[in-house]
Amino acid sequence: MNRVLWVPGTDWLHAICHCGAERDFDDPVALWDWLLAHPEGHR
Ligand SMILES: [Zn+2]
Repeated sequence: MNRVLWVPGTDWLHAICHCGAERDFDDPVALWDWLLAHPEGHR
């Protein structure tokens, strides 16, 4: 299951892929590009 969490006190979003990969983004578009690009960039 993919999850997107807002990091309180910041403009950052924390994305968690269903595969367990995690990454922080300040751009929602880049976040979804990364999330939906699975498994590219995930490990
Ligand atoms: Zn993934």
